[in-house]
Amino acid sequence: MLKEKVAVVTGGTRGIGFEIVRKYLANGARVVLFGSRQETVDEALKKLKEENAGWEVSGKCPKLTDAAEVEKAIAEVKEQYGRIDILVNNAGISQSTPLYNYTPEEFDKVIDLNVKALFYAILPAAKIMKEQGGGCIINTSSMVSISGQPAGVGYPTSKFAVNGLTISLARELGKDNIRVNAVAPGVTKTDMVAALPEQTVQAISAKIPIGRPGEPEEVANAFLYLASNMASYVTGEILSVDGASKA
Ligand code: NAD
Repeated sequence: MLKEKVAVVTGGTRGIGFEIVRKYLANGARVVLFGSRQETVDEALKKLKEENAGWEVSGKCPKLTDAAEVEKAIAEVKEQYGRIDILVNNAGISQSTPLYNYTPEEFDKVIDLNVKALFYAILPAAKIMKEQGGGCIINTSSMVSISGQPAGVGYPTSKFAVNGLTISLARELGKDNIRVNAVAPGVTKTDMVAALPEQTVQAISAKIPIGRPGEPEEVANAFLYLASNMASYVTGEILSVDGASKA
């Protein structure tokens, strides 16, 4: 489904991002994954190469909250492959600190990675996509971008912003043949969920109409669809993959 396409996936070393990378590779894309540390990047690349030595995948670890570093990394991908067809902004952090314990620094940390870093990657990537005649940007939102959450206000705030960025840029970049969408996962079985208190996970899971949390691969399938030509007329969409959690 993605033959000849070049994709960049941030936060591609584990969890949902890792499954997106696998899915894209299995569907013929060449992928550059961005991770936060060289060791985790190397580990992920090793795992992928063990699965299929023929997959064309490499990795980088620019500081995503540093606009200049991200711009440089994106330029290097363009240099390496001559184009960027797909940008997946997936890296994100979550927390559930109650408001009265929240610090401004904690709020900034969430917004810096979950919102500002997306803008830093989109800016240079969209310029490349425009020049080459089109491309596709997919952001990772969350079901809390629709329902909010009862603690940890920075996280849902950041994901509401992701939706705003997505819908607005879809309107602005349509004329350049750049589609911009987001996937809004529900509770998905990754390290991020493992880090939540067990009680919180149980309470959330009990409210999922489909009766279980999602698997990272089920979420990655939505990223595959949105990146493929099957979604050629889909832009400005926030695609929920949440077992009807927010319903
Ligand atoms: P995860 O913690 O397993 O993975 C997060 C990824 O982001 C990792 O690859 C990590 O290296 C990267 N990352 C974290 N901090 C970083 C930093 N400072 N700089 C660069 N990279 C950094 O989490 P996940 O569950 O796979 O989450 C992926 C995305 O999905 C996030 O945007 C998250 O908000 C969203 N999401 C997850 C769930 C869920 O239930 N797991 C639900 C809704 C949305």
